[in-house]
Amino acid sequence: MFPFDPFTYYQFVFWFAAVGACIGSFLNVVMYRLPQGKSIAFPPSFCPKCGHSIRWYDNVPVFGWMLLGGKCRDCKEPISVRYPLIEFLCGCVFGITAWFVLPLL
Ligand SMILES: [Zn+2]
Repeated sequence: MFPFDPFTYYQFVFWFAAVGACIGSFLNVVMYRLPQGKSIAFPPSFCPKCGHSIRWYDNVPVFGWMLLGGKCRDCKEPISVRYPLIEFLCGCVFGITAWFVLPLL
């Protein structure tokens, strides 16, 4: 039996989705850098077109891309929609999993 009230349950589902979106963001880094033989830890996220570091507030999964209108803050070059899509899908997978698994705990 799930021991939490509905509000707490939704909070858990939300946080699992948020963590999933962060993992999706990391997977984007892995998919971009690993085939090129680059480190997945350093340097921190940067624009592949102009090389500027991505500010922490622009690096929030899904919302950062939306707030920037899909463009780099520095060079205004478009950022592929693949990045927020993968973050969103990972967030959904984690959120949906939490939605169905948490009541079983
Ligand atoms: Zn740029």
